[in-house]
Amino acid sequence: METAHDIEALTGGAMASVWSWVEAKIPAGVEVFDAHAHIGADVDGRTMTADGMRDRMEAAGVKRSIVFPLNDPNARDDYSGPNDVVWNAYEEHPSSFVPFFRLNPHLDYDREFGRCVERGFMGLKLHPVSQKFELDDPRVVRLLGMATEIDLPVLIHTGFAMQRIVEPLLPTVEAHPGLRLILGHCAMVEVLSAARVFEGHPNVLFETSVVQAKDLYELCSSVDPSRICYGSDIPYGDLPSTLHAILAAAEAAGVPDADLPGILSKNITRWFP
Ligand SMILES: [Zn+2]
Repeated sequence: METAHDIEALTGGAMASVWSWVEAKIPAGVEVFDAHAHIGADVDGRTMTADGMRDRMEAAGVKRSIVFPLNDPNARDDYSGPNDVVWNAYEEHPSSFVPFFRLNPHLDYDREFGRCVERGFMGLKLHPVSQKFELDDPRVVRLLGMATEIDLPVLIHTGFAMQRIVEPLLPTVEAHPGLRLILGHCAMVEVLSAARVFEGHPNVLFETSVVQAKDLYELCSSVDPSRICYGSDIPYGDLPSTLHAILAAAEAAGVPDADLPGILSKNITRWFP
């Protein structure tokens, strides 16, 4: 019931006109794909269930979501428990969820990497702030090489509290042009330099969740729209307001409506047909 109330507050009442604008702006026939969402529990107390996620997707007309663990208090050494929660959600709702697994690069990750890949997980999520690592840490560079080798997409948190993004990441992206990389929160504080540096690397996508309005505007003004993919970061963001944020930024930056199906769906869906 709390879920229904949350969703109503985001799409009804004072927000009704904002939500109508969003609904009208989404081109007909577009199956919205959320490239960044979490299922499980976080050390900060946030939680999200598979059913809660599905209720939110249905209410906002979102068709599929990439889902992965939070910074889970039960992650222990290898993240296997939280990864299993995500896998179970996917098995119950294979048409709604695209499952990514999460790892801690500081710990011995080979076994859990192998187990998740064998199981059929479709991508890897890394969080340099929560797991306290730099993007040029040799263990991270090795992990990104392993992902490239088996063509496994990787989403890296490049948002709040990040100090170094482009400079430590660039050598790996240059060494592995095949690496399919999603920059979670679109490299935020370094968005302009990321846009410039990664322009010639078509396998690097910029994901839009939980970013300041000015950064989203800069993203839409400086990156080819074919490189932008929408995300919510549920349970930190929500679908209605993150959809509003990217669509408003795109409009303000003069992105043609013809590019919106790509941003909302097609740019990321081609990785997960
Ligand atoms: Zn997130």
